[in-house]
Amino acid sequence: MNIATLPVRPEVYKIAKYNAGLSSADVEKRCNGAKVVKLGSNENPLGASPLVAQALQTQAATLNLYPDPQGRLLKHALAEKYKVPTDRIILGNGSEELLSIIYRATLNSGEHIVTPYPSFPLHEDYATLQGADVSRVPLDVHLELDVAALKTALLSKPKLFVIANPVNPVGSWLNNQQLTDLLESVAPETLLILDEAYAEYAFGADYADSLALLKNSSLQWIVLRTFSKAYGLAGLRVGYGIASNAQLIDMFDRVRSPFNVNTMAQAAALAALSDDGHLAKTISHNSAEREQVRCFLEDNGFTVAPSRTNFLFFKVHKLAADLSEEFLNRGVILKPWKQHGYDNYLRVSIGSSEDNQRFMQAVTEIFLQSLLTKNP
Ligand SMILES: *Cc1c(COP(=O)(O)O)cnc(C)c1O
Repeated sequence: MNIATLPVRPEVYKIAKYNAGLSSADVEKRCNGAKVVKLGSNENPLGASPLVAQALQTQAATLNLYPDPQGRLLKHALAEKYKVPTDRIILGNGSEELLSIIYRATLNSGEHIVTPYPSFPLHEDYATLQGADVSRVPLDVHLELDVAALKTALLSKPKLFVIANPVNPVGSWLNNQQLTDLLESVAPETLLILDEAYAEYAFGADYADSLALLKNSSLQWIVLRTFSKAYGLAGLRVGYGIASNAQLIDMFDRVRSPFNVNTMAQAAALAALSDDGHLAKTISHNSAEREQVRCFLEDNGFTVAPSRTNFLFFKVHKLAADLSEEFLNRGVILKPWKQHGYDNYLRVSIGSSEDNQRFMQAVTEIFLQSLLTKNP
């Protein structure tokens, strides 16, 4: 059937299907029942805080009732943590949904956004869906955000300036000085969206403290965070946004579906937020393991992008999609990047120590084997 005859807007068939990671069940068959190592979706190998299971059990008695459409308890806890009023906070079914809400609320057909490249594909796709144009600003040669080039692109006064900090799929990040410098070039008519899905991993040292920097700014902005990554709640879908003003949140609230964050998700996020110990454990496990995997890759001659996240982005000698098949045959799920110009990069999430060992073992096997076949 010719897709042009389907009853959908042309913008819909312009966007690619989301490159969601494979599940363990997808891969089990092909590796003879070996335990599958899932390092494709940046999930927390320690799981969620044990307090989450307790909260879910308690909440199970209320499943006949609609969730709180305002997520009041969770918003209060977030407001306290970040010292912002609750009316500047919005909750979403994952931060992905918040992106969708914001784009639908703001972007007209024919307008344009500015965003780095490569970056999180939804940052572009939701713009395309609105009929808007995307101005891509490539990362620099070190795979870091190119502040000067971004500043130049901002002269075009885009409707949205969308940036993931740290950058997914790369891991690199903006420091305070770089973010301050960028903010100087954002026009009053541009909405700044800072997608900080990996902020908990990146906090400290020189990672830009966006909420502090934006506090006295006159710009329109929203900072997005999620419970999917460091808090280990990807399966429940909870994200949140903190905006420059309550009026913006009021507008976004009109666009979202009223009960977008379900009862279990609200209760789980509240419990996860209260367990600083579990978060600290997650972060220290991740930094130690990430540096071990990084050293291994670099010692074996791979170029690895700088990372303050729970993943590493490294260059391989052939099409990443083909190479990822060889990892799958060994039960290791990775994320082969597919965007043009970066399709020879693999992204590996940092897992449990055991899973990371399996990944490193697979690297050794695959690359040793290819060396042997190349030089018989
Ligand atoms: C994982 C990720 C998200 C999605 O988070 P959810 O809250 O699970 O929807 C958003 N942005 C970036 C950059 C991510 O890597």
